[in-house]
Amino acid sequence: QETIDKISAGEVIERPASVVKELTENAIDAGATAISVEIKEGGIDYIRVTDNGCGIPREQISLAFLPHSTSKIRSSEDLLAIHLLGFRGEALSSIAAVSRVELISKTSESLTGSRYVIEGAKEISLTEIGAPDGTTFIVRQLFFNTPARRKFLRTAATEGNYISDIMERLALSHPGISFRFISNGKQKMATAGKGSLKDAIYQIYGRSVAMDLLPVRCERETYTLEGFIGKPSLTRGNRSFENFFINGRYVRSQLLSKALEEGYKGYMMQHQYPFCVLELTFPDGSVDVNVHPTKMEVRFDDADEVYAGLASAVSQRLLMRED
Ligand code: ADP
Ligand code: MG
Repeated sequence: QETIDKISAGEVIERPASVVKELTENAIDAGATAISVEIKEGGIDYIRVTDNGCGIPREQISLAFLPHSTSKIRSSEDLLAIHLLGFRGEALSSIAAVSRVELISKTSESLTGSRYVIEGAKEISLTEIGAPDGTTFIVRQLFFNTPARRKFLRTAATEGNYISDIMERLALSHPGISFRFISNGKQKMATAGKGSLKDAIYQIYGRSVAMDLLPVRCERETYTLEGFIGKPSLTRGNRSFENFFINGRYVRSQLLSKALEEGYKGYMMQHQYPFCVLELTFPDGSVDVNVHPTKMEVRFDDADEVYAGLASAVSQRLLMRED
């Protein structure tokens, strides 16, 4: 059983960034309006995620760490939908199988908080403790009991960059939540969480990017497109400036990138790539995102229409600009 736990943990938890992603998404699900993430040494030694969300009632804490124990499943249709989306209620159990986890949580209904410690899937303690409303997870020594997996990790700097990318995407896709990211004691990112995407872009990328944005909004038959593209002067030598979200989730998509770049045709030199933060909203069903929890792939029902709509919205917006 222990071996099975460790193997399945590897599917969801590949690296420190996977831990941060899962814990932060849980904080978002818990209704948090402020989330702070702190890492040391690229998250390999230490990850802390603190939220002001609904908290976990004491009697449910140890259940939450059992595999397949998601609270999101309320009916058999839910179960199906959750499987399709790749949510399987196994993040906490997977993390606890391969690290030392300390959890402090308090609901607003409870007078005291709880502190729970679980290491390598073994429960160590559950005690009462004073705590503010919300939840803090501390994950120490990732893969301490699976040295083979630990060996696959890159340097602390590289692992830290993966986490920083994840924090940026989460902050861009949730401008209504205030995010703080601290690495080795230094604050790397802070967003106000007042709900404005433009403010979030400013807080993440700085003034030089925020000054060169063009708002985009268009309604197509099967989806709506909304967000910002950069003026043609705003470029990078790779696609890391291209941020696409579908129904609130970050995706990487060759099709969307190609369509965006088609829209910039004639404005950009070879091997230069534009800036964008674009959200595509599809009614349920016509898009299939995240078939696996660690992947960010996407399949469209009508790929040609998505491509044409995005490319033409971008090229028209660039034609209309005044700068
Ligand atoms: P899932 O998110 O798919 O339900 P997880 O293993 O990520 O599965 O989490 C298990 C459960 O633990 C969640 O369904 C939720 O009830 C609870 N939980 C986890 N993190 C938090 C949090 N930050 N605040 C409140 N509840 C949480
Ligand atoms: Mg989860």
